[in-house]
Amino acid sequence: MLDRTTATPSPAETRHGATRIDGAAHALALRERMAALVPDFVRATGRPPALAVVLVGADPASEVYVRSKGKATRAAGMLSIEHRLPADTRQDDVLRLVRALNADAGVDGILVQLPLPAGIVEAAIIDAIDPDKDVDGFHMANVGRLSIGTDGFVPCTPLGCLMLLRETLGSLAGREAVVVGRSNIVGKPMAQLLLQAHCTVTIAHSRTRDLPAITRRADIVVAAVGRPEMIRGDWIKPGAVVIDVGINRVPVGADGRTRLVGDVAFDEVGAVAGAITPVPGGVGPMTIACLLRNTLVAAHRREQLDPPPGL
Ligand code: NAP
Repeated sequence: MLDRTTATPSPAETRHGATRIDGAAHALALRERMAALVPDFVRATGRPPALAVVLVGADPASEVYVRSKGKATRAAGMLSIEHRLPADTRQDDVLRLVRALNADAGVDGILVQLPLPAGIVEAAIIDAIDPDKDVDGFHMANVGRLSIGTDGFVPCTPLGCLMLLRETLGSLAGREAVVVGRSNIVGKPMAQLLLQAHCTVTIAHSRTRDLPAITRRADIVVAAVGRPEMIRGDWIKPGAVVIDVGINRVPVGADGRTRLVGDVAFDEVGAVAGAITPVPGGVGPMTIACLLRNTLVAAHRREQLDPPPGL
């Protein structure tokens, strides 16, 4: 059963009237669509789609992500295979496991949870994953496919952002988009996706001069920086759509309590924007839903089945 409690109803508008883009509700709908497609796949192949997740070490945030991914995978009727290795595992042993998963015909998707402990070169591990099982979309082959616009796997977080933008705006063609952040896992693939959707794209980063002047001309702002509430209300063009990827934990008092905030000052920006994603409950839930989507796509491709319409 899919857990509907994660999609707690939230007001459709911010205090100031911008549409609040309910990522949790969109993610639940996507997860339900994926779950509905699994029985046909099982009938056709005699097995469920399978996602293998590799966790090295015991980073608490990674533990939470891996648990949520496993739960969501099982709830969608897919097989979740978890490999937990101690923090002192040698790179060669991680590589051996990845190669074994590549060779396992019952595994459709492989995800190695990042960050990896010091001493393991992330690029070497990602490079070892079979690109056709690389449901995170981090392998160079998939980065290249995204860049030239052929079928590959797109990283889950920017894919989720694109889906939310399409749900909010319909066609994105001709819109001016600014992506703040140029990481390989969010900023760069996000910019590629927006370019493919025919936006005019600017990528900003820590060396960008006069960032507010750049974001102010955008119809779409995607913030993927990792700096709490950096994007202010007067950086935004009235009516723009603002997607906040940031997840930052900030203290709320002297007693050690914390709360999650995004890279966008929600109330200020909500007073100007046309639509905005909240943190939490915006982009975050879409990431896991897109992982299930990518796993189901991988499973269909590997079995040479036509992907169901809309997948
Ligand atoms: P990252 O690898 O640290 O990249 C941050 C980017 O922000 C870099 O390109 C950096 O520029 C840029 N930047 C830093 N300070 C800046 C400034 N003052 N002005 C303009 N640009 C600045 O981070 P990431 O992995 O992309 O993640 C970004 C945020 O998204 C984090 O809060 C992370 O937790 C969150 N996240 C959320 C999800 C989700 O599922 N919702 C998934 C992934 C990440 P330089 O390149 O010049 O250093």
